[in-house]
Amino acid sequence: MAKRYSFEFFPPKTEAGRDKLAATRDELNSLSPDFFSVTYGAGGSTRDNTRGIVLETKAAGIDVAPHLSFGGDEEDAVRALLDQYREAGVRRIVALRGDIPSGMGATRLVYARELVEFIRQHSGDHFELEVAAYPEVHPDAPSYEQDVSYLKDKLDAGANSAITQYFFNADAYFYFLEACEKAGIDKPIYPGIMPITNYANLARFSRNCGAEIPRWLARKLEGYGQDADSIAKFGEEFVTELCHILMEGGAPGIHFYTMNQVQPVKRMLEAVKASHP
Ligand code: FAD
Repeated sequence: MAKRYSFEFFPPKTEAGRDKLAATRDELNSLSPDFFSVTYGAGGSTRDNTRGIVLETKAAGIDVAPHLSFGGDEEDAVRALLDQYREAGVRRIVALRGDIPSGMGATRLVYARELVEFIRQHSGDHFELEVAAYPEVHPDAPSYEQDVSYLKDKLDAGANSAITQYFFNADAYFYFLEACEKAGIDKPIYPGIMPITNYANLARFSRNCGAEIPRWLARKLEGYGQDADSIAKFGEEFVTELCHILMEGGAPGIHFYTMNQVQPVKRMLEAVKASHP
């Protein structure tokens, strides 16, 4: 079966940032990815920016999947957004719970499963639905088994496939696939791949999101100190090798967290596609 490759963007806040992103997208699109996705700010904070980039990308004839969560929105607002996406010809949505942004008080969190049910109820089978999966366990999950079971609930509620949080340990992904299979999950689980470019940012982000930087890797990256070029060079070699290991092990494709940059993900996908078109 053909492998599926996708690229994720976050919505820039400025006009200049949006122009730069369009250029990045066009360059990455030369590799014919299956789709791009655009993240949705916690609590709906990027709603207009996300929608703007999604509609512009779709108008350029490129397949794009908006990320979506309830955030603080009422059901009517989410229905309206779904209708707009449908009218624009969008065929895929990444359905999420999201997180409560600090300072937003007691916004109600709607589990991703509930959003999947809501979308299926409102839009039928129009959209392919992706959900999030966590090979190294979501930080709020009561246990590994329960997290897998909640993933199954989301897929059983009508999601088509899952994309994982990033990880740097291939075994975590393969073990997770086995656990999912044992739990009765038979839908594809695409690894999410994060390039290593800036160690300080990566370490801060990883502490909160349920992704681990293995000790040896952290020490190696720390050892480069402020030498950004060496971090980028080693990071690219390491993550490209990780992609190869995942594909050799049977991953159904890869979702790249681009951080809105062409490189290194463009070279990574070129390398992966050379052996797994
Ligand atoms: P859920 O699947 O709802 O699960 C959240 C937690 O609740 C888990 O710990 C789960 O085990 C637990 N749980 C699930 N169901 C129940 C239940 N019935 N009872 C008790 N506990 C339950 N965040 C953004 O803000 N914007 C984005 O665009 C974005 N894109 C992402 C894309 C991908 C591919 C991934 C992997 C993550 C993304 N995130 C994004 C982060 C995500 O929103 C957070 O990780 C969030 O904390 C969980 O979202 P979820 O959809 O996985 O939640």
